[in-house]
Amino acid sequence: MAIIKITEYPEKVLGEMGKPVTEFDEELEKLCADMYETMYDAEGVGLAAPQIGLNLRLFVMDCEGIKLIAANPEIIHTEGEQSGQEGCLSVGKVPAVVVRAAKARLRAQDEKGEWFERDAEGYAARCFLHETDHCDGKLFIDYLPKMRREMVVKSFKKRKKW
Ligand SMILES: [Zn+2]
Repeated sequence: MAIIKITEYPEKVLGEMGKPVTEFDEELEKLCADMYETMYDAEGVGLAAPQIGLNLRLFVMDCEGIKLIAANPEIIHTEGEQSGQEGCLSVGKVPAVVVRAAKARLRAQDEKGEWFERDAEGYAARCFLHETDHCDGKLFIDYLPKMRREMVVKSFKKRKKW
């Protein structure tokens, strides 16, 4: 297993629509193992392929008891609303309040290619939505009003000392 360098805003791949996962082989299993290791090392609860520079619809997560690999993820149902703090490993974990659905149902394929559905609420639902967004080339800061988005980017740059 290996820890991979995390891609950071504003790298282009983070804004691109991911390509579907088509091969469910040993290489994919190895990639997922590396993504888990990278995520745990960064103390994150989810990590999507674009965050390690790969233009692929794939994420791993381990959040509030929900640990899964999601290839070709889709959110097929949402309910309610929650407002809470969110951050992203690609934006230096600078937190900002984002309104999301309170509950979400994920449909995806596991590392063997088997389709599954999983329901989550609260923080884990937020994770489903955040990681699926990464696969669509979307970042949580895209939901913020312009001024708040600029503030997040500014403090991210400061942390990075660009
Ligand atoms: Zn993220």
